[in-house]
Amino acid sequence: MTATLITGICELSTCDPSQGDGSPLGIVRDAAVVVAGERVVWVGEALAAPATDDCIDLGGKAVVPGFVDSHTHLVFAGDRAAEFDARMGGEPYTGGGISTTVAATRAASREELRAHTRSLVAEMRTLGTTTVEIKSGYGLTVADEARILEVAREFTDETTFLGAHVVPAEYADDRAAYVDLVCGEMLRACAPRAHWIDVFCDTGAFDEAETRRVLSAGVAMGLGVRLHGNQLEHGPGVRLAVEFSAASVDHCTHLTDDDVAALAASDVVATLLPGSDFSTRAPYANGRRLLDAGVTVAIATDCNPGSSYVTSMPLCIALAVRETGLTPAEALYAATRGGAKALRRDDVGHLAVGAYADFAVLDAPSHLHLAYRPGSALVAQSWRRGTRT
Ligand SMILES: [Zn+2]
Repeated sequence: MTATLITGICELSTCDPSQGDGSPLGIVRDAAVVVAGERVVWVGEALAAPATDDCIDLGGKAVVPGFVDSHTHLVFAGDRAAEFDARMGGEPYTGGGISTTVAATRAASREELRAHTRSLVAEMRTLGTTTVEIKSGYGLTVADEARILEVAREFTDETTFLGAHVVPAEYADDRAAYVDLVCGEMLRACAPRAHWIDVFCDTGAFDEAETRRVLSAGVAMGLGVRLHGNQLEHGPGVRLAVEFSAASVDHCTHLTDDDVAALAASDVVATLLPGSDFSTRAPYANGRRLLDAGVTVAIATDCNPGSSYVTSMPLCIALAVRETGLTPAEALYAATRGGAKALRRDDVGHLAVGAYADFAVLDAPSHLHLAYRPGSALVAQSWRRGTRT
């Protein structure tokens, strides 16, 4: 197998504290990485690098692990720019606009959904994202949810069944029948195409008893648990996530001290979605409070056409630093290793021997620039599975 030395790295953030300076980012200065096939086979100071077949000299750029975007809703049709415009004009976000996307998604062909998803994934790749989770949730019929997951599967193994996104209009008068459908025929059709199950457990979506039923049914079908919780108001989301040993509970804006303590005592990752708070002009989650309590924090985009039409992890890093109280180092870790933990993955989100060779080359001398220069196109190269994409 051909080994390629990538050198000329002025600052390498490995996100592996056993390497480099011993900080959580495991920073190695004047570094090099050797890639063979899809994996990293050597990491260290460039002067100590082994001989290889090929060599690429980056000429003094910072390198960070590829971003792990652990929360997106990428398979959809249409946009909701008019809803965004109204919201910026003063109307509150309620989640009710999801039905607009459901109608457009049901009406779209599979090829239209595939092409749109492909364009969003490509856009993410140019911004340094190398692992992406994709949820269903804009079909809300057995056939449409299964179709969305089939499209999502073409782009990632990290697919999530979110039939319990909202109750569709045709079930407005019989919520229980919709929950029955989600837990029964829809789950049976979707489970073979999904790795995870998720519920939008919040005001206007699904309550505690409904969430409990859906998660239990998903677990019985062998799916891992993740949850939307505590976004719009305080609710049972975090408590249920801990009870179900979820990989992650996402949003986490409205938390009590008991919620924070429960998270800290668990393996549940708290995933912050600052692009959503930004795009809905909502209060930001308090990332500082979570980290200080010992909670593992991730950052993701929540890319969706309603509340966060954001594909950029660098923007989310900058927002997490500016608005949720994280340091630039904490935000980078949350966007890489934190995202990997939120997906229970140990092969992505860091750069160490054996990990996938997924990384972003920054047109900057340091990872600090991700938060320091919001909005700038800093990702010069994106590498995934050992190949520049
Ligand atoms: Zn979401």
